[in-house]
Amino acid sequence: MEDGKPVWAPHPTDGFQLGMIVDIGAGALTIEPFNRKGKTFLASMNQVFPAEEDVNKHMEDNCSLMYLNEGTLLNNVRVRYSKDKIYTYVANILIAVNPYYDIPKLYAPETIKSYQGRSLGTLPPHVYAIADKAYRDMRVLKMSQSIIVSGESGAGKTENTKFVLRYLTTSYGTGQDIDERIVQANPLLEAFGNAKTVRNNNSSRFGKFVEIHFNEKSKVVGGFVSHYLLEKSRICMQSKEERNYHIFYRLCAGASEDIRQRLHLDSPDSFRYLNRGCTRYFASKDTDKQIMQNRKSPEVLYLSAYSGRPEGPSVGRPGRLQQDKLDLFRVVAGVLHLGNIDFEETGSTSGGCILMNQSSQKLAYCADLLGLDQEDLRVSLTTRVMLTTAGGAKGTVIKVPLRVEQANNARDAMAKAVYSCLFDHVVRRVNQCFPFKTSSNFIGVLDIAGFEYFEHNSFEQFCINYCNEKLQQFFNERILKEEQELYQREGLGVNEVHYVDNQDCIDLVEAKLVGILDILDEENRLPQPSDHHFANTIHSQHKDHFRLTVPRKSKLAVHRNVRDDEGFIVRHFAGAVVLKKGKKNNDALHMSLESLVCESKDKFVRELFENSNNSKDSKQKAGKLSFISVGNKFKTQLNLLLEKLRSTGSSFIRCVKPNLKMVSHQFEGAQILSQLQCSGMVSVLDLMQGGFPSRAPFHELYNMYKQYMPDKLTRLDPRLFCKALFKALGLNENDYKFGLTRVFFRPGKFAEFDQIMKSDP
Ligand code: ADP
Ligand code: MG
Repeated sequence: MEDGKPVWAPHPTDGFQLGMIVDIGAGALTIEPFNRKGKTFLASMNQVFPAEEDVNKHMEDNCSLMYLNEGTLLNNVRVRYSKDKIYTYVANILIAVNPYYDIPKLYAPETIKSYQGRSLGTLPPHVYAIADKAYRDMRVLKMSQSIIVSGESGAGKTENTKFVLRYLTTSYGTGQDIDERIVQANPLLEAFGNAKTVRNNNSSRFGKFVEIHFNEKSKVVGGFVSHYLLEKSRICMQSKEERNYHIFYRLCAGASEDIRQRLHLDSPDSFRYLNRGCTRYFASKDTDKQIMQNRKSPEVLYLSAYSGRPEGPSVGRPGRLQQDKLDLFRVVAGVLHLGNIDFEETGSTSGGCILMNQSSQKLAYCADLLGLDQEDLRVSLTTRVMLTTAGGAKGTVIKVPLRVEQANNARDAMAKAVYSCLFDHVVRRVNQCFPFKTSSNFIGVLDIAGFEYFEHNSFEQFCINYCNEKLQQFFNERILKEEQELYQREGLGVNEVHYVDNQDCIDLVEAKLVGILDILDEENRLPQPSDHHFANTIHSQHKDHFRLTVPRKSKLAVHRNVRDDEGFIVRHFAGAVVLKKGKKNNDALHMSLESLVCESKDKFVRELFENSNNSKDSKQKAGKLSFISVGNKFKTQLNLLLEKLRSTGSSFIRCVKPNLKMVSHQFEGAQILSQLQCSGMVSVLDLMQGGFPSRAPFHELYNMYKQYMPDKLTRLDPRLFCKALFKALGLNENDYKFGLTRVFFRPGKFAEFDQIMKSDP
């Protein structure tokens, strides 16, 4: 960087502003912004980056810019976004900015056609190009592929995932209805697993990995969905501007009269599990009522496809679709009525509680809908069964009365258990709709929430961030490994590329016995688990761990003399996250409630629980008073997923949310920059800047430039042609390297070379 040259300097809201260095001090630069002459400010050395000569120029692949840094990346993405070019490459990684409106023709059938069979980079950047690359790699390398879609809530992960699925089934399907079913599974999954949040009106509250399977002829033969971490807290409680899962409102608003009566439905305002959030909102263009009553709505179509499938369970039973739907709805309604059961203290010395008077009706509805005995349900909600080992009398059963607060928790735990088993069932059923007998390879698309850090972070955020830490490691492995392998294959002999390894952070979470997950499980096995004791154990186990700190006491708390320095802070790849509570790890139902539901008179409800792997484990272990916790179950699932990802070829899509208002044509630079940093894109640029990001095969260069060259040169083979050309131009030998099949250029040097060639023939 020199005086007088344009630079990108930090700006509080835009991320960067264009300016000029006017003075270089000991630790800081003095910058004069271009649009406020005379008003200089100081910026530290590592926050200022060289800018391109022409800041209005944009590049499809960010690596073709002269300078690769966060300033030029942000600017390139900004200029492209302003022209409705929402996709940009950084080498093979796709950045996708959410446009928040339908860009004409961007996903039209003819666009799909135009990308089929075309190499990455020959057409403008697009999610279709990534999908096609995955497909071609699968065919050529005979290896399964995965596409990892990441980004914060509302960034467009789920929409882009759907475009990939649509692209692959349209382009490489067999034209049979299996193609359509793979695409149509989404509305059904979204009805049960998506909700309106402040960040996204149709926010997926679960992660998924959707595999499309192909036969030996590389045609679609079926699919499989795995799901991760459904957000359970939402079933019982939502913040003021958020909602519960869509299905609850759709059912209340749109069920037919006979179903309303059968399920005792009412307006959302009358249910505790809905009325503390916002009830007067609907998440899509259609109202909840319209969606439900539309006979063509995808959910309805989907269910009928399921029921009509030749080997399906509904064969020859015309009433079966109605029954299948009613089963789902019955359980949804059962959860709502369960939530309306209230408890009050008995006033007796035993300290137990009883159902409030007006709750008896709700209890009756709930018991009826879930096939339970009313009295058993009442007893199970207000007492808990314990096995005593006291006095050698092993296995004596005693009933302990619950306090109001404990009974509320038991009720909510039951609602969560029932609904999450129902969600498992919906996914299982979706999977039954696209079975496959043979599969040669698959393309899997991972749509899972990115790093999250709120003011109050719970165990759910902890799991999400742990997951992202693992995915970041995988990203580093793949991007850096691929880069180094390419250099090696081409015989470049460059030094190894270094990067920050985050294994220490992963170990902190998942190490046996001393990791946070195991410490949490240990805590929950104590007779009186406490957040305070939990945090202390972590701190004493990991004294001076780089990734771990104690939250600072806020001034307010000191003033009021209350504790708020509890918990711990994990310094993640993407920033530090404060955690205070580990409670959500333990959604375990107490034994009497669990056995009650498992023995339901209703076959559908019974099977919900039997089929959910969750309860099988806990049933086996219940006697030993231990259970597989949410955290450790997720750890196992996650490690299986990563094993799978590691066995495939991979592509990455980084989704970016342009603004918090969820509107089109608004580019909030600062927060976009932070997303690019969090997704590891800036580290990739650092890597590229130190390496050889632009590369061109000899024969391409030959074809591009032979017209400018004398005949004598064009008679050489492409490699020699290039060598001779570079010599003749007197290019600096540090700016490029010759590999076996292509030339590698230092950042921006290819563009420079291209300019010389075209301006000076
Ligand atoms: P995420 O899954 O990352 O939370 P979504 O994929 O649900 O985010 O996107 C949020 C909303 O943004 C969508 O409901 C849609 O309205 C809009 N959106 C996302 N991607 C696009 C796109 N490519 N074109 C138009 N609108 C989009
Ligand atoms: Mg989503």
